[in-house]
Amino acid sequence: MRLAILADIHSNLAAFESVLKDLESRGGFDKIWCLGDMVGYGPQPNECVARLRQFDHVCIAGNHDWAAIEKMDTFEFNPVAAIAAQWTAQELTADSRDYLTALPLILNVDGFTLAHGSPREPIWEYLLSQSAAKENFTYFETSYCLVGHSHVPLVFELDGTQVMLRELGETEFVLSSNRMIINPGSVGQPRDGDPRASYALYDSETKKIGHYRVEYDIAATQKKMTEFDLPRPLIQRLTYGR
Ligand code: ZN
Repeated sequence: MRLAILADIHSNLAAFESVLKDLESRGGFDKIWCLGDMVGYGPQPNECVARLRQFDHVCIAGNHDWAAIEKMDTFEFNPVAAIAAQWTAQELTADSRDYLTALPLILNVDGFTLAHGSPREPIWEYLLSQSAAKENFTYFETSYCLVGHSHVPLVFELDGTQVMLRELGETEFVLSSNRMIINPGSVGQPRDGDPRASYALYDSETKKIGHYRVEYDIAATQKKMTEFDLPRPLIQRLTYGR
C-alpha cells in the first residue's frame, strides 16, 4: 500500500493540487494519511476538505481545525492567525464543520501513530528539540509516529537511549528497526525557508519513505488571500517559506 503523508494543508488548494499531481507522477497512491490543520491561514478551507474527502483517507485534528469549529479559543494564537481562524470559522459550510468536528486527535494505523503536534500533546506541542522528542517516545506504542504542526520536515530517531535529530531533505530512505518520529513538513505553509509544498510518501511493502518538495502557484493562493482580505503577513510568508 502506498500512503501519501500530508500535513498542514492549511486551506491552500493550489499547493494541495500540486502535491496530488506530483504523487500521480510518482506512480500514485492508495490512501492519504492527513496529519491535521486542513484549514486555517489559507483562502480555500471548504475546497480543501472536499478534495481530501474524494480520496480514501484518514485524518486527525489540528489546532487550526479546532479553532475553525470553535472547539477552542484563539487567545493562544498570534493575532494574524486568530484573524484567519475567525475568517475560516465564518467561511466553513455545515458539511465541512461536521467533518472537522468528527476528527480524532490520535490514530494508530499500520504500525504508525498519527498526532498533529505530538503524541503527548496532540493539539499544542511543537516537536523541535531532541529532549522533547525523547520524552514523547514514551507516549506512543507503535514503532513510528508521524507529526505535523511545526511545518518543518524533521526526523527524530531513537538509537538506544539517544535521540538523533536530522532535517528531512528531499530524500528516500528505508525505515530501520529504530523507533522514529517523522514530520513530513507542511503542504500549505512551509516554514523551513523553502516555499515549495512539502510531503512524504510511504510504501508499506518496501518500508521506504520518500520526502518530496513541489513547486506550486504561490501567487494564485496569495491573490485569493488578498481578495478575502486575509492578513498581509500570512500572504507574504508563503513567498519565503518562513
Ligand atoms: Zn499548522
